Amino acid sequence: AASFGINKALEQLGVKETNLGTSIGSEFFGTGETIASYSPVDGVLIAKVTSTTPEDYEKVMTTATKAFMEWRTVPAPQRGEIVRQFGEKLRELKEPLGKLVSYEMGKSYQEGLGEVQEMIDICDFAVGLSRQLHGLTMHSERPGHRMYEQYHPLGVVGIISAFNFPVAVWAWNTALAWVCGDVCVWKPSEKTPLCGIACQNIIAEVLKNNKLPEGISCLINGDYKVGELMTNDKRIPLVSATGSIRMGKIVAQKVAARLGKSLLELGGNNAIIVTPDADIKMTVIGAVFGAVGTAGQRCTSTRRLIIHESIYDQVKNAIVDAYKQLKIGNPLDQNNHVGPLIDTDAVEMYEKALQKAQKEGGNILVAGGVLKGEGYESGCYVKPAIVEAENSFEIVQEETFAPILYLLKYTGGVENAIAQQNGVVQGLSSAIMTNNLREAERFLSAAGSDCGIANVNIGTSGAEIGGAFGGEKETGGGRESGSDAWKIYMRRQTNTINYTTELPLAQGIKFDL
Ligand code: NAD
Repeated sequence: AASFGINKALEQLGVKETNLGTSIGSEFFGTGETIASYSPVDGVLIAKVTSTTPEDYEKVMTTATKAFMEWRTVPAPQRGEIVRQFGEKLRELKEPLGKLVSYEMGKSYQEGLGEVQEMIDICDFAVGLSRQLHGLTMHSERPGHRMYEQYHPLGVVGIISAFNFPVAVWAWNTALAWVCGDVCVWKPSEKTPLCGIACQNIIAEVLKNNKLPEGISCLINGDYKVGELMTNDKRIPLVSATGSIRMGKIVAQKVAARLGKSLLELGGNNAIIVTPDADIKMTVIGAVFGAVGTAGQRCTSTRRLIIHESIYDQVKNAIVDAYKQLKIGNPLDQNNHVGPLIDTDAVEMYEKALQKAQKEGGNILVAGGVLKGEGYESGCYVKPAIVEAENSFEIVQEETFAPILYLLKYTGGVENAIAQQNGVVQGLSSAIMTNNLREAERFLSAAGSDCGIANVNIGTSGAEIGGAFGGEKETGGGRESGSDAWKIYMRRQTNTINYTTELPLAQGIKFDL
């Protein structure tokens, strides 16, 4: 680890050997059990974090609720100024934070830096947004009346995040929530708690420098039990949860039972349709990066390629050839394309998925397998695999969070490919590779892709923060990041003002006294 400058990065980010895992701004405390964070890169124990007890949680919520009372009255552009300063700090610490993301989560250093860049980008977006949190004005049916709508801060936003984007998902939520006047309580994944400590240190300094209530940003740590403290808590009007469909179904029901709002960003089963009019070279680059980038652990990873029979062999051979060039190894070494999976449980799920695919009749084109020996001591490195399969296979219907790419064939028109692409329970990202306008437009039409993201001549992964991000069906329906995704972090109020001396009632109702 030392050879890649990890120790220095940890020092710059204020991550110690043992960290108190509950925090209100710069105040860290906590007496819960410790969570040990091992790097999937080399299997080494990086550091420990104490988890949050129900008593710790109460302290957090009391302070966060109080901080909200103050923060909600700070003018939105001034809140934007705080987010601007936060973005500046992220620029300064981009390299160490990118490195920690890479070392604790296992994605490549380039992708770690990319993730921090997303944080910076959402801050910039949120700063501009802080002057644009606007509602509409309407014409009243009553004379001498004005009607308009406005958006007010919502309250304490609970954020539950997944291991695979251990820092960006928090920032997508917080940058918007903060300019909207909310305060945030974050529970990072128990697999990446150190990324949580590092991020909290960064924002705590900004809050402290500006003498703001530090409860604006709080951190809690632990597994699903700590997450449940928030889903069951009536003081949290919005729970934003990113993770598996299994988790989302539980969180959605708990939050709905108390009529709270939930923003769900769940699993994907993303496909690229390759039509006879596709640019094959672009297709290969898009598909291979989509399938093996982040070792197949992106919610938008390409899991299925739906290829027209007329070009099936050509595309298949080109992709199989490209896989031969992939270098698997330490993600901090920039010569490698593919890093490790998050842990050995994920490796087991990968192996089981390949066995199941074969059992269901799949044809293994590029064999997978777990790598052993020097450089692979963590036991988390696997070979990206390719399987010829059918969309109806149970295993193809599932999201296996690993680099397994299924090749599916279609015949006839593009509508047959679209039917396969839509024929899964998830609805996150989708793509078509074609130079045929009719096919592209059909794919984007009301009868086309049913996903939250639909791309033409781009792969499924790698979204920009300017657009709303999220998916339909069992992906959960939530939207984060750009466009008008901010609205979920606020409460809408319709206001009617009468500036006359009469009191006309709506709908012409007469009520004489
Ligand atoms: P996970 O569901 O195991 O855990 C996610 C988070 O939920 C963790 O913080 C976990 O502690 C918490 N959690 C789990 N059960 C809970 C419960 N009952 N109550 C409250 N909190 C609970 O997911 P993971 O393995 O960390 O991440 C991978 C998954 O996340 C994949 O399915 C991936 O597609 C998805 N993901 C989706 C998006 C998106 O934007 N749609 C983005 C990133 C990841």
